[in-house]
Amino acid sequence: MNENFQAEVLNLVKQIPGGKVTTYGEIARKLTGSVRAARAVGRAVAKNPYPVIVPCHRVVRSDGNVGGYKLDVDTKIKLLNDEGIEIQGGKVANFEQTLFRFNDETLRFVTDRMLGKLSTWLRILGYDTVYAADIPIKNGEEDEDNAIATFAAREARILLTRDKYLAASARKNGVQCVQIKTAGVMEQLKELLRHNIPLNLEPVPVRCSECNARIRKVEASEENILKEKSYVPPSMIGKRDFWVCERCGRIYWEGSHWRNMREQLGQLK
Ligand SMILES: [Zn+2]
Repeated sequence: MNENFQAEVLNLVKQIPGGKVTTYGEIARKLTGSVRAARAVGRAVAKNPYPVIVPCHRVVRSDGNVGGYKLDVDTKIKLLNDEGIEIQGGKVANFEQTLFRFNDETLRFVTDRMLGKLSTWLRILGYDTVYAADIPIKNGEEDEDNAIATFAAREARILLTRDKYLAASARKNGVQCVQIKTAGVMEQLKELLRHNIPLNLEPVPVRCSECNARIRKVEASEENILKEKSYVPPSMIGKRDFWVCERCGRIYWEGSHWRNMREQLGQLK
């Protein structure tokens, strides 16, 4: 194994505060941008030369299962118990509340149902933004406000809401939150600027405004996927750049709508 990788993994492990756990996948995501390296992280953690001092007992599986330990699993459970973490059936109880996530350099958002337009704008600006209506809620288990706050905490997203009660209860649960006070989307964007959230239109579109997934450029060899969409003017095919959403297949191009948005953004500052 690459020694550098091991050192970086153990450096991150040192950042996990007592009373919290993180997952092999979360460390992998922080280091490589993807959870695929989770197994490699597991191997690096297993070779930790200083157990307890480098608190690798705070790294568990993505479903909350305590997983393995260099000493033995009972010792791992005891160390976690001593830090106030309860284990039930081999899993961390209250896993979502106990999960520690490393800070992301990029800001990510979750918005309440009053802020659909703002969500669209944030996605066009390139921000990963989940709209409340898209958060799955377990049947009868919790109301939407709770679900939004829990989701924001788990994913370390900034909650944008017009509801002061939701803002207050989310903050109590450690969620970073901006309470939006105006109704029009341009005014709302100005509020975000005042909270030091940068609003810069990327030179090319990067995110689907419908579903929040990443979009990619359509290759010249893929003209057929453009022809399938009735909303793409055939006269433009072959003459312009197009982008396609990797999840929902929506096609984007830089047209008059895009230019209008750029102008409106320019007027905000
Ligand atoms: Zn999409």
